This record gives sequence, C-alpha cells and structure tokens, in this order.
Amino acid sequence: MTYMGTTKAEMSSSLLEPGYETVDVADRIIAFIAPAFRGAVVTGNTTVIGGNDSLMVVDSGHFPSLTKRIITQIRHRFQQPPKFVVNTHWHPDHWMGNSLFREAFPGMPILSHVSTRKMIQRSMLDYPEQMSKQFPAILRDTKEAVRNGKRKDGTVLTEEDKRYRSQVIIPDVENFLIEIEKMQVEPPNLTFEEGVNVDLGDREVRVLHLGRGNTAGDVVVYVPDSKILVTGDLVVAPTPFASGSYISEWVETLKKLRAFDATSLVPGHGSVMHDWDYVDTVSGMLKSIADQVQNAVERNAAIPGNSPLSLEDVHKIVELETYEKGMVGEDYFLKLAFQRAFAQPAIARAFLEAKFSEERST
Ligand SMILES: [Zn+2]
Repeated sequence: MTYMGTTKAEMSSSLLEPGYETVDVADRIIAFIAPAFRGAVVTGNTTVIGGNDSLMVVDSGHFPSLTKRIITQIRHRFQQPPKFVVNTHWHPDHWMGNSLFREAFPGMPILSHVSTRKMIQRSMLDYPEQMSKQFPAILRDTKEAVRNGKRKDGTVLTEEDKRYRSQVIIPDVENFLIEIEKMQVEPPNLTFEEGVNVDLGDREVRVLHLGRGNTAGDVVVYVPDSKILVTGDLVVAPTPFASGSYISEWVETLKKLRAFDATSLVPGHGSVMHDWDYVDTVSGMLKSIADQVQNAVERNAAIPGNSPLSLEDVHKIVELETYEKGMVGEDYFLKLAFQRAFAQPAIARAFLEAKFSEERST
C-alpha cells in the first residue's frame, strides 16, 4: 500500500506549527496538506485550483489561524480572486474557515451539496459555543488523568496511554481552545444535487456528488485538463474516518470515483496520492465490513429462537486485523485512531444497515 506524497512536513508538538505542507500538484493547482492526524483534533486539506479568470478553493479548514495563513499564501501565489469556495461535506474540519474567505473576498459564494448545507444548518450553527463548553472539561480531565496515572473510573493508565494524553490530547486541545475563540460559522449559500461545472477562464472544473459515502453530501472536484481529483473525506489517509457514514453505499461511490482518469488524488486528509492503491484498500475494507456484518446478522437470524445480535456481539465477530496492520502498523497513536475514528463507527453503521435491510426483508 502506498500513499506517495511529497516531502513530509516535520512534526512538532503543535498542530499549528509548522502547520500545513504546500504541494504543487499540477499547473496552478496547489494543495495545502493539513498537519498529520494524531488522534485528537483534526483539520482537513485545502486545495486551490487556478484559472486565468478566477480560482476555486476546495475546503476551508478547521483552524482559523491556518486558514488565515492559507489565504495569505493564495494571495501571494495568484493574481485572481477565488470565484467559489466548495465545501466537500459538512464536518467542520472542512468548512470552519469559510468566514475568513468571505471576509477576504466579500460576496464570494460558498458551494456545497444540498445535504451538506442542510446538516450545517441543522446541527452546526452553535458549533463554536458547543466546543467551548466541552473542551475545557476534556482538557481538565485529561490533565487530571495524567497527573493521577488513572482514569476517572479508577483504571490505571499504561505508559502509552499517558504518552498519548500528554503528547497528543493536551497540546491539541490547548491549541483548539485558542482556535475556537476565533471561529465564526458561515454555512454554504449555493447548493446543488448532482453536480456543477465551473468555468475559471482557461480551465473548467467539475464539482460532483457521486453518491453517499463518508457523509450524505460528499462531493469531489475534478480538473479534467490536469487529471487531478480532489476527493474530500471519501478518501482519508492513513486511516479513514467513518462516523455517521454509509458503509455499503461508500463502496459503490468509490467504484464511481475509481472510474475517473485521474493521475493524482488530493485526499480529505493525508498526502497527495499518485495511484489508486490506497483507495482500493479502503474500498476492500469497507466491503469486508459490510459483508462480515451482514453475514453475521443473517447467520444469527437463521437459527430459530436466537436472540438478535447486539452491537457488542458484532464488534467481536468482525475481523479487521490485516487491514489495520497494513494501514497503521504498530504505531500506538494510529492504532487508536484506526479503532476509534474508523473501525468502531464503521462497524456500528454497517450493523444499522444490516438490521435495516433485515427488517425490510421480513
Ligand atoms: Zn475531515
């Protein structure tokens, strides 16, 4: 499995420094690759596509400090103004920077799938307030756990647990608390259902919804003249995120993604990819989860008198070790991320899907 990128930005103890890595993906296409995912708070990649009339920006990030720096860099690299910001989906690590783009380029439309705007309107308008309530408590509890060497419930922290809390959670949350203060919610104001083509002058860009996957409103952006595909969180490396996702449909959506004649992919998180290996692995893993869960539910239902499977039962049955090893190896932080951000939510969602299809067939 390869996800070949360009030079890796050096890691430091802060999410914001050195921040993102700037990658020239193709002629006038620049990806700002977000700091590597460490397991606490994340921000997504931002991509800028330049034409001779105007620019398109795909995703605006989570941390206002980083978005500000990206805007400065865009102004430095391009004479033209952005014509649109596109939000690939509703998770805040992809659009919380919208307000800063709006401020810098007044009147600029912010484009998304109709479902993305709906989700933001429905559940994210008070995001900064919610976060500023939750995160001080997380920080306090984490510091206390590290100090006492145990969790609130009394279980003792391993050395790795302690290291994870002190090296990842505490610095990430401390940074995030500063960022929350600077956030302003600016939802997309121009929506579409299937897709829209945008003319940037000497270059056309296609913004497309291929189906549900990571969220209900995932969009991808394709630049045909340079064969660059910006995938949003349909593709995230080194380990996907699956909270609230549509596991079986995601497999189908990735098949459509695979049909593009792209030479490079900019994922939602992680380095630029120059082949499909990683996408194929993710696709195989999602299919494996859907199949394993479906089979477990069917096998159980076929035995008369059996009580229905619980989510806990299903977690014990689904086997992902080979995929996990291939993706994150033995890295403790990444193994946690694989379990918490991907495997657990993906299995839970696949279980819901299997139960739903079982109910419909009976
Ligand atoms: Zn994301």
